[in-house]
Amino acid sequence: MFPEPGTSSLTATPAATAVFTAVLTEGPLSRVTLARRLGLSSAAVTKAARPLIEMGYLRELAATERTGPGAGRPASPLAVQADREFFVGVKITADELIGVVCDLCAEVRTAAHRPLSGTGVGDVLAEIGRLVGDLLDGPGGYRDRTHRLGLAVSGDVDRTTGLVRYSPFLHWRDVPLRERAASATGLAVTVENDVKALTTAEQWFGEGVGAESFALVTVGTGIGCGLVVNGRLVSGSYGVAGEIGHIGVDADGPECHCGGRGCVEAIAGTEAIVRQARDRSGRPDLTIDDAVALARRGDEGIGAVFARAGNAIGIGIAAVANLVGPARIVVSGEGLAAYDLFEPHIRAGFERQAFGAAVQCPLSIRPLPFEEWARGAAAVSIQTLVAS
Ligand SMILES: [Zn+2]
Repeated sequence: MFPEPGTSSLTATPAATAVFTAVLTEGPLSRVTLARRLGLSSAAVTKAARPLIEMGYLRELAATERTGPGAGRPASPLAVQADREFFVGVKITADELIGVVCDLCAEVRTAAHRPLSGTGVGDVLAEIGRLVGDLLDGPGGYRDRTHRLGLAVSGDVDRTTGLVRYSPFLHWRDVPLRERAASATGLAVTVENDVKALTTAEQWFGEGVGAESFALVTVGTGIGCGLVVNGRLVSGSYGVAGEIGHIGVDADGPECHCGGRGCVEAIAGTEAIVRQARDRSGRPDLTIDDAVALARRGDEGIGAVFARAGNAIGIGIAAVANLVGPARIVVSGEGLAAYDLFEPHIRAGFERQAFGAAVQCPLSIRPLPFEEWARGAAAVSIQTLVAS
């Protein structure tokens, strides 16, 4: 049952999917532990694992644990063979491509950036083709064991069909990206919204592992949120869920590009911060880096802009905690390069506005290197291999 490169799922039965997913996301597990965890018989686990071992996706580690007190036979835990297959992930932004090659455990093996001179679909696809070629044919020799490419794009994306319905930063409407990228690269392609891709990486390979529900909030140009409820990524009946950036937190606040007023993004998005910092400093050419530097040097006016932004984000996060009740919330994004300026205010806004016991929800606040977005895209393609 070798899968055709890139076309079919790796696992042929639900039991095999469950076994492989558990070992992939939780690390080495013995057959006995797997049987108990998944509610399967030991025989069913052994049967499910055998073809995966034969294909080289799982391997048996040296026996380290006994099956139980007095049981003579030591158990050999099953582990994922990380270099059995590689996956390319590419994040498409308005001015650059960020690409990575990940192994089966979503560890980044190599990464590259490419500037984009324009956002025309044909130009972007040609550059994706060159970037993928360079990543796969460079040192590392990943080409032979790579069949899948994940793409991450901001905006409204239909993962099932690979259609980008609308991406405001790229000015794309109804682009059949999966088909076009597949013919440009010869790989099987998945396309996902960038925040959802990042959430998938966190759910399978990060802080979301084992959590029934969690939320990932991203801070940067936009303020986004991926939600996992009952182990599933929430898409929303209208394709809109977790739009934390457009929760209104100040009825008298600034107008938002969405048409609303006082949205989190209108106060805490990168553009909003720059605009407020320019107003405060009277310097029309001030950049976000200038604003960060001034605030770190103790400029009170600019510091207040970051405090207001962090507070708005915290109130938005509290709304998520109050409504959904996730087990934990991860706050990340390129905007958190200025993490030190935001963090206390995010926490203060959250703690003030979270209702009752929701305040116990752990917030993990950390910066996000841009490669992580591309890794998220690769994680979606790994997920597709396991359970398409
Ligand atoms: Zn808005």
